[in-house]
Amino acid sequence: MTTQHSKTDVILIGGGIMSATLGTLLKELSPEKTIKVFERLSQPGEESSNVWNNAGTGHSALCELNYTKEGKDGSVDITKAIKINEQFQLSKQFWAYLVRTGQLERPERFIQSVPHMSFVIGEDNVNFIKNRVASLQQNVLFEKMILSQDEEEMKSWVPLMIEGRSSDEPIALTYDETGTDVNFGALTNDLFHNLEQRGVHIQYKQEVLNISKSAKGTWIVEVKDLTTNKVSTYEADFVFIGAGGASLPLLQKTGIKESKHIGGFPVSGLFLRCTNPDIIKRHHAKVYGKAAVGAPPMSVPHLDTRFVDGQRSLLFGPFAGFSPKFLKTGSYLDLIKSVKPNNIVTMLSAGIKEMSLTKYLISQLMLSNDERMDDLRVFFPNAKNEDWEVITAGQRVQVIKDTEDTKGNLQFGTEVITSEDGTLAALLGASPGASTAVDIMFDVLQRCYGEDFKQWEAKIKEMVPSFGNKLSDNEEMYHAINKEVTKYLNVK
Ligand SMILES: Cc1cc2nc3c(=O)[nH]c(=O)nc-3n(C[C@H](O)[C@H](O)[C@H](O)COP(=O)(O)OP(=O)(O)OC[C@H]3O[C@@H](n4cnc5c(N)ncnc54)[C@H](O)[C@@H]3O)c2cc1C
Repeated sequence: MTTQHSKTDVILIGGGIMSATLGTLLKELSPEKTIKVFERLSQPGEESSNVWNNAGTGHSALCELNYTKEGKDGSVDITKAIKINEQFQLSKQFWAYLVRTGQLERPERFIQSVPHMSFVIGEDNVNFIKNRVASLQQNVLFEKMILSQDEEEMKSWVPLMIEGRSSDEPIALTYDETGTDVNFGALTNDLFHNLEQRGVHIQYKQEVLNISKSAKGTWIVEVKDLTTNKVSTYEADFVFIGAGGASLPLLQKTGIKESKHIGGFPVSGLFLRCTNPDIIKRHHAKVYGKAAVGAPPMSVPHLDTRFVDGQRSLLFGPFAGFSPKFLKTGSYLDLIKSVKPNNIVTMLSAGIKEMSLTKYLISQLMLSNDERMDDLRVFFPNAKNEDWEVITAGQRVQVIKDTEDTKGNLQFGTEVITSEDGTLAALLGASPGASTAVDIMFDVLQRCYGEDFKQWEAKIKEMVPSFGNKLSDNEEMYHAINKEVTKYLNVK
């Protein structure tokens, strides 16, 4: 016997940063909307959004070398770097608005200034980074970026990375003081706390089993109470599937045509975490290196200062791995169950095309602890095995989809899928992820609430003043907005 509950305007599936952001935007733009949230775990932000499950980088292309492409003539294309930086500016503006309006308290709980740095070894890479910085520095978004090859200066930024370095190979570092470390788990918690106070009903230990369309065009969501095993159904005009890695199987359940010919490939991750407080306090930066040949972009190694509950910590990684689970707390059958008649060719095509990724993942899985420490010693030559422990990071499910020309393309970005009538949206993929949650959710709103969105424009500009403009083309606007944002978020 299932219980049928009364209808709401919106159902958000999953208690991660994406649902938290969409719920908050909707409550601001259309406060009368009734919203329910279902989360299978006992708290919000416990899967990929949890602080230990991601790297907490406020992705702004201040340090990630893979966001700029080098041409054969040595030129550097900065288009993607600008796009990602602009997206993060939207997130920061929205968070600053929530602090200013008293909806988020204590921004230091979720955002801290931590310099973003890039690190390269070898002449070719040094030449690349010089060209990169020269191109980026011409844009206002990167005006604070500095490059150094001077040993004393580099030592003053990151002593652990310079001490004990014996090789003659040239190295270079860039430094940008405007970088941030974001605790997306704490932010998710605080956003849901605020939503609860505004009447949003958030139910934990509730697993969504099925989503189907009713005869009258609304969505019927079947939910299992994991404490009592009782199954209930809920009805809504609009459903957002923000279930992280588990979004794909739920999207498949809807049966909409946009859910076909899409597959998912899970990639798991490990970090090394420093256990020695004397070491932790001697490093204050997020330092990104270059990805190994054949490595997927999310495996770029980085040495990261993190802030968790006011405590500083130090992580290195991620090391990639393979697990067939779609969530860290998922099932070993997730991958196999996601193979359907409509996506089997898509998935097999990707399998054939992505042999280098498969080889890379196998090589990562085979790494011993000593070998992981050797990778760390490329960054931190004097690192000692006894000062580091291994922790498991979150699961990412990369999207595999067909394009007009080819089948089975593995994507490393995020993908918003919406139904033709705009009553359902799902978020697939993981990168650059949480940093761009506000931009992604604006996209969802634009695609699903097109008519309302035009009416909401004035309110959107109040919350996110640069919305619809490019800060990268408008120095004066950037400086004016940035002054306010840094004041409210208490960052550089
Ligand atoms: C190793 C790693 C490093 C990363 N580093 C960064 C970084 O440095 N910067 C950055 O911006 N991003 C980073 N990301 C990406 C970022 O973590 C994700 O993009 C973001 O957390 C995704 O949020 P979400 O809300 O979509 O998913 P999640 O946080 O995973 O939330 C989904 C929620 O849905 C729930 N759920 C699942 N199925 C159901 C169901 N059937 N019923 C009810 N609830 C369900 C889950 O329990 C979970 O709480 C990283 C990710 C990983 C894995």
